[in-house]
Amino acid sequence: MKSKTEAIIISSMNLGEADKLVTIFSLDRGMLKGVAKNARKSFKRFGAGLESFTLVRAHLYEREHQELARIESVDIIEQHASIGSDLGRAASGAVMLELVRELSPLGERNAQAFLLLSHILHLLDEGEEPLFLLNIFKIKFLSLLGYQPKLDHCLSCGIQPKGEMVFLGMKGGILCPACMVSSGEPQVTLSPGAVGFYYQALRMEMDKISRLKPSSSIVRELDRAFSDHTFHILGKRLKSTEFLKAVLPLGY
Ligand SMILES: [Zn+2]
Repeated sequence: MKSKTEAIIISSMNLGEADKLVTIFSLDRGMLKGVAKNARKSFKRFGAGLESFTLVRAHLYEREHQELARIESVDIIEQHASIGSDLGRAASGAVMLELVRELSPLGERNAQAFLLLSHILHLLDEGEEPLFLLNIFKIKFLSLLGYQPKLDHCLSCGIQPKGEMVFLGMKGGILCPACMVSSGEPQVTLSPGAVGFYYQALRMEMDKISRLKPSSSIVRELDRAFSDHTFHILGKRLKSTEFLKAVLPLGY
């Protein structure tokens, strides 16, 4: 069956002599893996359209019970070329794509998550601050996939956060200092400012998101909390965070 859908290229790798194995996040079909036949030879059908971050219209051919679709051709809608040409943008974008690949189920449509990624990559390409955008992406993406942390009350006694709270990645929630029994391990804490920003960002429409101007300490706090949270969701660290830490050390 032939179909076409808007899609963002998550990754592509060489397969055999001339083909490419491509992972896309699509508007109509969610995450999908496909083979682009002769992609390394046919500039006409693919051009530069299989580079990571590119927004394309993908023409697909699928047969039932076949795991891999065939990607017949792509038309570039937005190249997002400036993401790849700047280390900070590339590193932040790489974390976004890895989160999508690790968390989105294959073949499950999630139009809101697609539109979110598409919008964020557009802003990243335009030069908006990479760590800020990564934060916004994590806040909204995890919520759209049902992994939204609950930061509005202490998990144990229920009080609303006043001072600094301790974030528990495993539970995706917070504890107040009175309920926290210290294990001596370093704790991930969240200030009231970080919690406030989190809910503001969660509710704000994407076309107004650039109005938010969190301090770098808020960005840092939320980044630590989210890294801890995704570690517990995935059972592993994201590979691309090492790259991010190396190129944007000020963010940590
Ligand atoms: Zn408490």
